[in-house]
Amino acid sequence: MHERRLQPTPASIVRSGLCIGCGSCVAQSRSAEPAPLATGSEAPLMRLDGYGELKPQGPAEWLRMGPTAFSRTCPFSPSARNETELATDLFPGAVHDDPLVGRFDGAYVGHADEADFRAQGSSGGMVSWTAAELLRAGLVDAVAHVLPSGGDRFFRYGLSRTPEEIGTGAKSRYYPVEMSEVLETIRAVPGRYAVVGVPCFIKAVQLLRREDPLMRERIAFTLGLFCGHMKSARLVESFAYQMGVNVADIRSVEYRLKNERRPANWYTAQFVLRDGRSVQRDWFHLAEGDWGSGFFQNEACNFCDDVVSETADISFGDAWVEPYASDGRGTNVVIVRSPVLHELVANAMAAARLKLTPVDAAFLAQTQAAGFRQRREGLAYRLSWRRRAWRRGVLQPVKRVPPGRALPWRRKLIYRMRAAITRWSRQLFAATRRAGGRSLYVHWARGALSLYHALAYSRGRIGSWVARLAPDDRGG
Ligand SMILES: Cc1cc2nc3c(=O)[nH]c(=O)nc-3n(C[C@H](O)[C@H](O)[C@H](O)COP(=O)(O)OP(=O)(O)OC[C@H]3O[C@@H](n4cnc5c(N)ncnc54)[C@H](O)[C@@H]3O)c2cc1C
Repeated sequence: MHERRLQPTPASIVRSGLCIGCGSCVAQSRSAEPAPLATGSEAPLMRLDGYGELKPQGPAEWLRMGPTAFSRTCPFSPSARNETELATDLFPGAVHDDPLVGRFDGAYVGHADEADFRAQGSSGGMVSWTAAELLRAGLVDAVAHVLPSGGDRFFRYGLSRTPEEIGTGAKSRYYPVEMSEVLETIRAVPGRYAVVGVPCFIKAVQLLRREDPLMRERIAFTLGLFCGHMKSARLVESFAYQMGVNVADIRSVEYRLKNERRPANWYTAQFVLRDGRSVQRDWFHLAEGDWGSGFFQNEACNFCDDVVSETADISFGDAWVEPYASDGRGTNVVIVRSPVLHELVANAMAAARLKLTPVDAAFLAQTQAAGFRQRREGLAYRLSWRRRAWRRGVLQPVKRVPPGRALPWRRKLIYRMRAAITRWSRQLFAATRRAGGRSLYVHWARGALSLYHALAYSRGRIGSWVARLAPDDRGG
């Protein structure tokens, strides 16, 4: 197959491991385009696949083509504009332009200091505060964000129209979600909207806004989350298995239970069961409990180079540096790019409704040091594995980072190990799920995690051997 014949389509993006499952292609086909398919055929939709990830499904004809603007609007399409190009157009007057965190007007560390936004939020409650403030100020009519849901999924995108509804969607959900339904509603129902999302989802929204004047007008604000990577639905299933819980008995899932007496970065998972009981376990007692090891990561995240939602009007993360990381109440870092939102934030700071301190780009990057290593030197290395990808019938991602292999051997091993954990956790869990022997998966996962820890943090006997050979190369 020749490189030029390989076009970005829903089928080729999925086959290439580049589909994050945002649902933009499905939304475009279902609402914007009158009759994309042969009469009588099933309309495209987003569905959980065998790995617990959301992927577009539809007639073969649609999967081979997608909506008209697919190659320009899929966030992982090699033909789509990159984050730097989008941000340059979106924020032409930005005061700062940094190679890691992109363009911005102001950056802060702190938290919401009114009502219970901080207590209810995963971090400092700034996302929910901003969403609620946009509604209160009449700047938007509704906010698209992620809410707990019934049915076959624990969480879904939905629209909140009051600050109280915003509160029900607080907290980070490391669970597959997609935007096709909310994008359809935004297109169908006049009004001004804000959308909350991880970097690739916000990129998808911005790419759609470029193509579609109606979406450009209606989506008035974008609120981005920093992102390490997306997890599949199997994370909940594996946690449940290890906690002795049947997934069918779970009523609600909490990934990060807040505890003021413990460091913010000691995550505790909690399931509330249908019989009213609740079951908790710290992440570090679970086989996949080290976030950075890559268990159940969506493969597309291997080819992402945006840690901080560079194309969002405002974006939010956790302040993963001391003294903030040890403060169990939770602390945000906030990057403001829209002048309107900067004024909103500045007014609330002046009124002591927000407790925020200005910081610079170096501080922001420091809070996400591991994420940037994975998405800069790690990405360069991973891209080098895919040279001549088209020969295998898969697309070569086009990123802002060029392929490169100039790394110490230990870093290379860490990246190889992480990618292997991602691939094998998906496949082994799927196989043992079908065959009914999940303990085999858990044994494998614990062994893989020990090896990863030996490489990345020099833990255990193998770790001290690795540390003697390469003492200065700390992982993460
Ligand atoms: C998959 C994922 C990975 C992340 N990785 C990092 C990271 O590496 N580093 C870092 O500093 N921060 C990361 N974050 C962001 C962090 O977890 C917090 O969401 C952020 O600091 C905001 O906290 P808050 O208290 O202000 O938000 P809250 O007030 O708790 O509000 C959170 C808002 O985000 C929405 N939301 C929750 N989950 C999702 C989702 N999956 N997709 C879209 N919207 C969602 C909720 O509906 C709610 O409106 C990640 C978040 C997610 C969902």
